[in-house]
Amino acid sequence: MSIYEEVEFEDLDFDPVNQIYTYPCPCGDKFSISLEELWDGEDVATCPSCTLRIEIIYDEEDLPELKEDSDDDDESDEEEGEGSDVKKEENIDQGLADITKKSLVVE
Ligand SMILES: [Zn+2]
Repeated sequence: MSIYEEVEFEDLDFDPVNQIYTYPCPCGDKFSISLEELWDGEDVATCPSCTLRIEIIYDEEDLPELKEDSDDDDESDEEEGEGSDVKKEENIDQGLADITKKSLVVE
């Protein structure tokens, strides 16, 4: 999977409705990458009709702000608390046993 070409961000065509950047592919179709993918750090645009790909040269500060007017469930991709129930094995039992022993020393 090689990169066909490196393309400057400002050379891309922007579709403001779908927030997708496109660039003409030699096969006649267009490479495309969404603004959201760019914000996610994705910089490779693919062509839906062939296997070519381009790498987009950009700085995050060049990107327009991502519109989030839809209620996609993208917002809820916080990490699920994996391994949250770590069991701490404390030697409480041992401590209690010592205390019990002491208090049982009568006389
Ligand atoms: Zn193509």
